[in-house]
Amino acid sequence: MFIEKKCAYCEGEGLDPFGILSTRSKCQVCGGRGTVKVSEPVFECAFCEGTGKHPRQRTTCTTCGGKGVVAVREPSIECAYCEGTGRHYGQEWLSCSVCGGKGRATVPESRETCKACEGSGEARIDGSVLPCVTCGGKGVTRVAQK
Ligand SMILES: [Zn+2]
Ligand SMILES: [Zn+2]
Ligand SMILES: [Zn+2]
Ligand SMILES: [Zn+2]
Repeated sequence: MFIEKKCAYCEGEGLDPFGILSTRSKCQVCGGRGTVKVSEPVFECAFCEGTGKHPRQRTTCTTCGGKGVVAVREPSIECAYCEGTGRHYGQEWLSCSVCGGKGRATVPESRETCKACEGSGEARIDGSVLPCVTCGGKGVTRVAQK
């Protein structure tokens, strides 16, 4: 299902919020309409906190493309590795490599807490924090079907 939503990048104004080319430039996300179509189920984009703008640069958010929302297939949980922030550990201008900045990850229907990382999604190797290889950073693993 598609829903029509106010464009986050231009806040529904239909104009480029940064006016890089001209203050009358059309919003590149919605094409000047002020609204965008998104497919359900949608969640607020964690990386830009729903603003549609990149946290560091005067561009669209790399995760949601400026819409401010992302589609995440169900069932989904808060991403364990970034704890739902969508930011890369220690480098918050980069999006989380596990959820791609969405802050949520699609997980198996029958799942259990990852034994390797105890649900944190993290593996500490030589002082750096990497996504757990067992669960891929999601903190849960699929329960083997009998
Ligand atoms: Zn727009
Ligand atoms: Zn975003
Ligand atoms: Zn994440
Ligand atoms: Zn794990």
